[in-house]
Amino acid sequence: RAKSENGNSFSYFASDMQTRARVAAQLDGELQHALERGEFRLFYQPQIDLATGLVDGAEALLRWNKPGSGIVAPGVFLPRAEENGLILPINEWVLFEACRAAKRWQQRGFQHLRVAINLSPIQFRKRTVPLLVAHALAETGLDPRRLELELTESIVMQDIDAVAEDLRKLMEMGVHISIDDFGTGYSSLGYVKRLPVDRLKIDQSFVRTLATDPNDAAIIRAITTLGRSLNLGVLAEGVETAEQLQRLRAEGCDHVQGFYFAKPMPEHEFLAYLSDDSAIASIA
Ligand code: C2E
Ligand code: MG
Ligand code: MG
Ligand code: MG
Repeated sequence: RAKSENGNSFSYFASDMQTRARVAAQLDGELQHALERGEFRLFYQPQIDLATGLVDGAEALLRWNKPGSGIVAPGVFLPRAEENGLILPINEWVLFEACRAAKRWQQRGFQHLRVAINLSPIQFRKRTVPLLVAHALAETGLDPRRLELELTESIVMQDIDAVAEDLRKLMEMGVHISIDDFGTGYSSLGYVKRLPVDRLKIDQSFVRTLATDPNDAAIIRAITTLGRSLNLGVLAEGVETAEQLQRLRAEGCDHVQGFYFAKPMPEHEFLAYLSDDSAIASIA
């Protein structure tokens, strides 16, 4: 009896694996098509400078406008794209599209606005990021100072000397570099010292329970202190309430981003948001 139960659970496991492989293969095909048919979109989430109360940038966040399903979030398909390699052409599209968008903003008179994009670890492994970025800037005519690249610790952990060299090339072009989800990794302090970086983005997990967990306030204070001593900007993400905003300001964050101000949105809504002074007035 025990044997047959094992047998059953084994066959369940096998069919479960087959199902998963089938689902993955289907997603691979769909993502390839999505790329070819132009189904990817960028949504933009405003970043607010607390010194002025004004929007001075936006993070570009990838969405898949899947026919029949609507807008699909990156958490659903990016892990698969990382595995099957499609992340490379997808992120290349993101880079060029974000540069084109930021160039449009400049031409509409928002000269100070920056666009930030998220990079994947696989891109850095190829050592082609500086060349690709130079190409995107040349082709779109975007001022390099209006582009920011967000890196996570998983990028940095591969080969820190190679990454540092590529980041130095990017900084020499004038491109900004920030560390995303800061504080969640294992070696945050070590790599911040060794890498050319402009800004730390405090992970939203520390912001979420800021009002109730005194440890979060202590961690955020440590990050802003580190930022000040290394001359780095500090942006807090995932800000959802007025109370969080007030505490983050008190702890010395210079920029904020989160649903309290605006969700990521299509470009035309982002431009409308920029023109709506009342949205900004509530922040300052
Ligand atoms: P991330 O770069 O840390 O982006 C922040 C995520 O938090 C976004 O989720 C954003 O919509 C969400 N968020 C912003 N404000 C709030 C808030 O106040 N509350 C809450 N609960 N969430 C908030 P999203 O757009 O689903 O993106 C998830 C992750 O997918 C990103 O995390 C980033 O790691 C990755 N990603 C997004 N776009 C790209 C891309 O073009 N390339 C690559 N390689 N990764 C991307
Ligand atoms: Mg990010
Ligand atoms: Mg983040
Ligand atoms: Mg993240």
